[in-house]
Amino acid sequence: MRVLAIEDEPGVADVLRRALEDDGFVFDLAENGIDGMWKATENAYDVIVLDIMLPDKNGYLICRELRQSGIDTPILMLTGKHGEYDHAEGLDLGADDYMTKPFSVIVLLARVRALIRRGPSSVPSTLQVDDLLLDPGTRFCRRGDTEIELTRREFSLLRYLMCRPGQTIAKDELLTHVWNDEIEGSDVVRVYIGYLRKKIDGNNQNKLIHTMRGHGYRLGCGRPSPSTFV
Ligand code: CA
Repeated sequence: MRVLAIEDEPGVADVLRRALEDDGFVFDLAENGIDGMWKATENAYDVIVLDIMLPDKNGYLICRELRQSGIDTPILMLTGKHGEYDHAEGLDLGADDYMTKPFSVIVLLARVRALIRRGPSSVPSTLQVDDLLLDPGTRFCRRGDTEIELTRREFSLLRYLMCRPGQTIAKDELLTHVWNDEIEGSDVVRVYIGYLRKKIDGNNQNKLIHTMRGHGYRLGCGRPSPSTFV
């Protein structure tokens, strides 16, 4: 899952980066409104954390322009002080939630996760594919009766796949949403798919992780996505 923060205060941006990366998100930062608008329209994010007071373009304006351009990524607005944010106006412009600084990191993470659940992909609170279960809040994972321990990166990769069961997902999409763009090549995806396969499928006859040669990876049977036939 990929989060864009549009935030000009380095201290707040650092707190966001640490909290979200620790929670397994890929974090991207825009330090001003224009850069933020550009990133939000050029890339796909799962949530946008948007500061209201920015040097060039305020958060209300960004929110409205994003919605007008058809971007329905959930938006959590950050406001500097009580009373600065007009809740009704924010909601009218298309924001999904807001928080006042200083904020609790734990609450912020809970709100971000809630937005992802409610978001365009309407992800349920516990993800289930066949007999594989993953709770994104606690990172608890089990296959049948067997509990599975995941590293942070394995968890991020599995969460992304489980949100899209039965779909073939290209390596590049996984690189973008689970790793930082700086990582070159797609070998890291293959390696981590291997780790997950060992932990999740192991000796199980019913394999859940499938390699769609030349196209990417698919979790679960589901209906193959159209790209499988390209
Ligand atoms: Ca600010």
